Formats: sequence, C-alpha cells, structure tokens
Amino acid sequence: MNDPFDGKSIWFLTGSQDLYGEDTLRQVAEQSQQVAAALDDAADVPVRIVWQPVLKDRDAIRRAALDANGDDDCLGVIVWMHTFSPAKMWILGLDTLRKPLLHLHTQANVELPWADIDMDFMNLNQAAHGDREFGYMATRLSAARKTVVGHATHAAVRAKVGSWARAAAGWDALHDLRLARFGDNMRNVAVTEGDKTEAEIRLGVSVNTWGVNDLVAAVDAAGDAEIDALVAEYGERYEVAPELRAGGDRHESLRYGARIEAGLRSFLEDGGFGAFTTNFEDLGGLRQLPGLAVQRLMADGYGFGAEGDWKTALLVRAAKVMGHGLPGGASLMEDYTYELTPGKEKILGAHMLEICPTLTTATPRLEVHPLGIGGREDPVRLVFDTDPGEGVVVAMSDLRERFRLTANLVDIVPPDADLPNLPVARAVWVPRPDFATSAECWLTAGAAHHTVLSTALGVSVFEDLAEIAGIELAVIDDHVTTRSFTRELRWNQAYYRLAQGM
Ligand code: MN
Repeated sequence: MNDPFDGKSIWFLTGSQDLYGEDTLRQVAEQSQQVAAALDDAADVPVRIVWQPVLKDRDAIRRAALDANGDDDCLGVIVWMHTFSPAKMWILGLDTLRKPLLHLHTQANVELPWADIDMDFMNLNQAAHGDREFGYMATRLSAARKTVVGHATHAAVRAKVGSWARAAAGWDALHDLRLARFGDNMRNVAVTEGDKTEAEIRLGVSVNTWGVNDLVAAVDAAGDAEIDALVAEYGERYEVAPELRAGGDRHESLRYGARIEAGLRSFLEDGGFGAFTTNFEDLGGLRQLPGLAVQRLMADGYGFGAEGDWKTALLVRAAKVMGHGLPGGASLMEDYTYELTPGKEKILGAHMLEICPTLTTATPRLEVHPLGIGGREDPVRLVFDTDPGEGVVVAMSDLRERFRLTANLVDIVPPDADLPNLPVARAVWVPRPDFATSAECWLTAGAAHHTVLSTALGVSVFEDLAEIAGIELAVIDDHVTTRSFTRELRWNQAYYRLAQGM
C-alpha cells in the first residue's frame, strides 16, 4: 500500500495580536518559523510541519481552522502563543476546527538571558502566560488536545510531537478506510460483534460485508503468470518447505495459496479496501483457509481480523499506519495459552494461521500442515517466532453505549524451548506489570481475546489516538494494580456516560 505519510502535513499556527507593533510581529513570524522548522527537521516527526502566517485576530483564526478542515492533506494543527493572544479571539476558531490539535507550550529561547533581559525581550517572549490564556479557553470549550511542554530542539518534545503526528495519521487513515468483511461473524461469538454504524460515526471507518463467493470469483480468475510470479517471490523471501517447491508433492497447495493471494489482492485493490476480515465457517468455494495470503497482505499494510472481527482489523490498519517506517511491525494476535509455572508465567499468542511476518526480522518458513478446523484442504502458512523486545497489545470492545480500547505493555521473549511441533507463527510475552495483574485487569475491562500486537509503537500513540477520537483507553502498564485499574474503569464508566450527554 502507499506510504501513509506521503504528501501529508501538520500545520503550525502561531497566535499573537496587533498591539505589539510591526517590529515585534516580524520577530514573532521569524522565530515561529524557526520553531516550526526545528520540528520539521526532527527525525521523530514523520510528516512535514508547515508554518502558517501569524494569527492576530479572530477572523484570521477562524479562517485558518476552516482551511485546515478543508485540506485533505492536513493531518492536524499545532498551536503556540509566542506572545499574548487574547483567547476570546480563539473561540470561533476552536469551535470550527475539526482536525486533531496539539498545544505546544514552548518559547524561542532555551536559556533565559539573565544579564541582558530588558522589556523588549519581555514584550516578545510571553508564551509562559500567553499559552496559559489559550489553555483556559481550550479547556472551557472542552477542546480535545494534546499538550506538549518544552523547547522544540529537545528530544522529549520531538518524540511527543512525533507520537501525536503518528496518531493523527492513524485518525486520518481510519477516515479513509473501507473495510471488507468476507462473510459475517463467527457464529455465537460475542466480543467480535459490534455496532458498525457507531464505528463510522466515531472513527470514520466504513465497514461492509461481501459474499465470500465474490472473493472466490476473483481467486478463480487469477492467471497462471500472476501465480508463477508469486511462487517465485516466495522462493526468494522465505524458506520454502521442500514438499512445496516445484516438483515437490505439495507444490499444488502452494500454487493455490498464491492464487488466493492474487485474487484477494486484486479484490481489495479494485474496491479501494484497506482492511478485511475472513471467517473459517464461511469459505464458500475457497479450497484453503487464507493463511499465507492474509499474512502477506498484513505485511503490506492491510488491516485484518479473523472470524469476522472488523474491530481488530481496523486496529491493525491503524497500527500499520501509525508505525510506518519504524522498526518492528503489527499483527492480529490472540491470547492462546499460558505457561503458569510460578516465576515463569507467560502468554503464548498465535492464531490459526494469520500472524503478520513484520513481527520477525528472521526469514519465515513457508509450510503446509493440516488444520483441524474448517474442513478444507491443508493451508499454506508462514511460520516464525516474533522478535524479542517491547510491545503493546490493544483490544477494542463494544460496551454497547461506547467503544473501549484496552492496552497492555508486554515484553516479548524467546520461547522457553523450541516449538518443533507448533506449525504456526507465534509470539511469547510476559505482560506488565505481571501475569496475574495483567490478566485480572484485562478480564475486568472486558477486553477481547483478539488484539493488535505492535512492536513498533509505544502506548503513547494509542493514548493520543484515543484522545483524538474521544474514546476510552484503559492502560495496563507498570503502575497499575487490579484495585486501581478497577476503580479507573468505574470512573470511566461514569465519565463517558456523562460526556455523551442525555
Ligand atoms: Mn480467533
């Protein structure tokens, strides 16, 4: 899929007012351009930061908000009050703005010029109180925003701005997202259900169902040349099991797996889809459950959820966009089974087949094995262990009157021993703060068994995304206890119901 940051930008808006005079306003313009340039240059900030002319009155502020709203390439706006900008001037603009907002509380200088400071300097460098005036109005208007404090050359500031910019890109991508479900939900499963209309209202994503035989038609239409090319690519990128290679007993299974990929890819491209779901109970004329094809499409940036789980599919797509260009990857994941030996507790995560190979830097093995479910031919799949390191798992549940995201920081570790008989890709992790607390909190939150596992992103990006979207995010990190987390859920329950109004 396309580079999600290509052509996108964040606007940098500077607040001031007319009474300072031309000389000061010229310096405001120059210095705010330097601040914007410092952020634009930062490697942590993945999109362009575009400076806009200094805003000095309420008509210009409202116009800037309208222009930002109307620009498809504008992911969000950063605002900074270099001088004092009386905040009643910002009411119409903040009320108009529909793009994600970051309030940068910074100043042009790092050091206070103790020996030289005079009233000219004081007149120019007023963010310490100018931004407080802005913060009051943004709070009074309940404007959702991220507030970042510090100098634009400092690493922590750049990291926070970059994280928020990634969340804004995820938000933008969700509004651009068309999600195709092949078949409905797995029968009788509760947590993968949800209100698709509400998802479009809250997150902008369009979720619709197609008959699986529409996909079968695309799969059957795939040509030999396309299949040949894919099989050759598999040979270059993966360690292909001998029985699947040309001349091997099971080579036809690999060719059929390639046929599924060619058909699925063309269906998604033709329909402009960025995410999809399958359901092993509803495979129509497909001879294999799509495994390899799903894994490779996820690696290309598509969101995916199994068993009709469109909520996880949109989370995977958002994680792909937000993590673009960073080391690590993102995948559908499922908490599968546990190691419960005291002191060695860990979670083995996997799925029937569909784990994204961006979770490993090793060469995956391409294998074929029976699948004890679904009653189809043996599916081809990539098999690997997820790289050790930090990760975050995030689930989305529909609590009927709202969506709740639940996130858990995890440490991915090597398996305790080789897994020679487990023919699927997997990840083994130790959840924070510890296994029992994590699972107690997760279950108390009603969080799902399907998640997105990201090894590219920290939890802060998901916090920023939840803030932009105005949806709940409950975080299980190093600091929670079951008691504190349970109380937070109760408070959230009250808050989000009140915040929705009557
Ligand atoms: Mn599942």
